[in-house]
Amino acid sequence: MSDLISELGAVLGDGLIRDDAGRAERARDTWMRSEMRREEGHLELPMVVAAPADTAQMSEVVKICRAHGVKMIPRGGGSGVVGGVLASPDSVVISTERVSGLRSLDAYNLLATFGAGTNGYEAEMLVQEEGLTIGNWPQSIEVSTVGGWVATRASGQYSTAYGNIEDVVHSLEAVLPDGSIYRSRDTPRASAGPDLRQLFLGGEGTMGVVTEVTFSLRPLPEPGVRQAFHFDDFETGLAAIREVIRPGWRPPVVRLYDGRESWRHFKDKLPQGNCMLVFLHEGPPGVAPLQAAAATEVCMAHGGTEAATDVVDTWFDSRNTVPSWEELLAQGVLADTIEVATDWSRLPALYTAVTDAISTVPGVVAATAHTSHSYRSGANLYFTFAAIPAERSEFVATYDACWQAAMSAASALGAGLAHHHGIGRVRRKWLAEELGESGLTVLSAVKDALDPDRLMNPGVLIGGDPS
Ligand SMILES: Cc1cc2nc3c(=O)[nH]c(=O)nc-3n(C[C@H](O)[C@H](O)[C@H](O)COP(=O)(O)OP(=O)(O)OC[C@H]3O[C@@H](n4cnc5c(N)ncnc54)[C@H](O)[C@@H]3O)c2cc1C
Repeated sequence: MSDLISELGAVLGDGLIRDDAGRAERARDTWMRSEMRREEGHLELPMVVAAPADTAQMSEVVKICRAHGVKMIPRGGGSGVVGGVLASPDSVVISTERVSGLRSLDAYNLLATFGAGTNGYEAEMLVQEEGLTIGNWPQSIEVSTVGGWVATRASGQYSTAYGNIEDVVHSLEAVLPDGSIYRSRDTPRASAGPDLRQLFLGGEGTMGVVTEVTFSLRPLPEPGVRQAFHFDDFETGLAAIREVIRPGWRPPVVRLYDGRESWRHFKDKLPQGNCMLVFLHEGPPGVAPLQAAAATEVCMAHGGTEAATDVVDTWFDSRNTVPSWEELLAQGVLADTIEVATDWSRLPALYTAVTDAISTVPGVVAATAHTSHSYRSGANLYFTFAAIPAERSEFVATYDACWQAAMSAASALGAGLAHHHGIGRVRRKWLAEELGESGLTVLSAVKDALDPDRLMNPGVLIGGDPS
């Protein structure tokens, strides 16, 4: 160990973090299960945190760790919610915090390149200064990194028009588990075999460390048109969204809350039990009003009632504000979110099956959902559950039972089991159902080819012990 640390120190200088506070701060992500374990006094620290300053140092760090057979845990902002970062005393956390900043901005070609550790909000503000946007606004934009977005296949709140992260990544650079450097070609499209960028888009730190990301930008649109409608039930609201999307309208924000979530967010704006649908329309000059008129026609035809636009203002003002797990646990409440996806025909059944399944778990006090990412052929459902187990000792078991209930119900309907948070540790046992046995074999073979000793983020996504 002392050899490892002195070798890392020689490469990193100040970028080697050894003190307890620095290691504790970077030991995990924002997984509820880790928060519960931490409360119980089970927080393990990594041997050290390595924070390389550039790609060359990153490559050296990975080579040293590999030569010593030491586990490596890539970490960005630590906002992941599925246990993708969880240190053990025999691991080195590799933080991207110093591999950050704007490297280049090409307004003519709408391209911007960032170090992977750049904070998402800072990256967006830097391109907005030039009248441009990345267009990826996860709720966690202020606490996540652009490399983390890539590693988890993140989705932003504007995805219905602007796409998910895989739609805005133009090219990327990554340090592979043997320390070599992969860079995809800077081209708007390629027909040159499978797209290798996809190994890192959703790689969750298991295929290497993303060090640089180039985004394909958009000009900042004109201020948009905000609209809200409410419906008697969730299924009718879903049907209205399908009909808005089908002919090709693409409002960036399309969010439908079920009755209980609508009441939670907008209770003075609608009858109890009704479901609020929120739209933001944007686009080239002239598009937003046309699109809003089309959405109004569809929503009215489905019996929707138009709500005052301050409903959307309320959503915008509070969209990134959520209580922390720590605050909830302090009140004796455990909670989490689970996002899945399916086609339009199965969405209503998926909604009912998952909320019913979670509700059967003893201690559960709420199982609710909204949809926030729509596609031509389907949409996501984002479930939130809350439970108040009778005893503190029942928290972890209750949490696991909620996940088990939700995943089993979603899998039984053939739904996509992870829309945008990733697999991490929490969903690992359902990966075979998602990929199929042959898919899992392919992914394992790729992993073994890149990382034969399985040192890169073991226990996450694939391979290793998830505990
Ligand atoms: C309040 C809140 C709201 C959220 N809202 C959204 C949302 O709207 N949309 C959404 O998609 N997600 C959301 N998330 C989840 C989370 O923010 C995303 O998964 C985000 O992309 C993680 O980025 P990060 O930099 O924090 O990554 P981390 O949490 O540090 O890491 C996440 C995973 O990626 C790996 N990783 C990180 N950086 C790299 C890298 N450079 N190279 C290789 N692997 C790496 C880690 O090993 C880990 O497996 C939310 C989370 C919270 C807490």
